[in-house]
Amino acid sequence: MTGQMLLEAPKYSERIRFDFDGEKSLYFADRRRFGEVVFSEDWEKEPEIAALGVEATHRDLSGEYLRTAFRGRSAPVHSILLSQKYVSGLGNIYVTEALFAAGIRPTKPCGRIADDKLEALSKSIRQVISQSIEHRGYSMSTYVDALGKKGRSQLFSKAYGKEGLPCPRCKTLFKRVVLGGRGVVFCKSCQR
Ligand SMILES: [Zn+2]
Repeated sequence: MTGQMLLEAPKYSERIRFDFDGEKSLYFADRRRFGEVVFSEDWEKEPEIAALGVEATHRDLSGEYLRTAFRGRSAPVHSILLSQKYVSGLGNIYVTEALFAAGIRPTKPCGRIADDKLEALSKSIRQVISQSIEHRGYSMSTYVDALGKKGRSQLFSKAYGKEGLPCPRCKTLFKRVVLGGRGVVFCKSCQR
């Protein structure tokens, strides 16, 4: 959503300030008040945390892990990745980019994806996240990084937001479908 973690005092809507040794502070600003901070003795057992799948950048995210998680399931792979249940930390932009990089159609039933494609997907998820960290995140609307600067990843997206434009790999025009209420862009010839 629109909350921010900042190293400099926000101009408005500071909700929590974490002080480190009286030197530096980290601020949680959240104008729309969707965010929540929970203090916990045993954070892994908090129900919101326990319900999450493996972290998108974690080394446990492999083709084999996805194969086991998706086995026998018919939900579209795009929706299952957005659900956070098997892989956590991915929003619409990252899922769109990772599926494009792996050549998988977003509507494909996740239990019917070939093993080599699942292997490619596990790699492309990690790749889109690390590329985005390098470019300091996507600033489609209000996102800023910890220094209050806008990210530049949106300048490097290959599929997200490219409906009607030519695919950089094969020049077919990108299509858009609506899946679970979200607009999803894909190339119908590269993504099968
Ligand atoms: Zn293409």
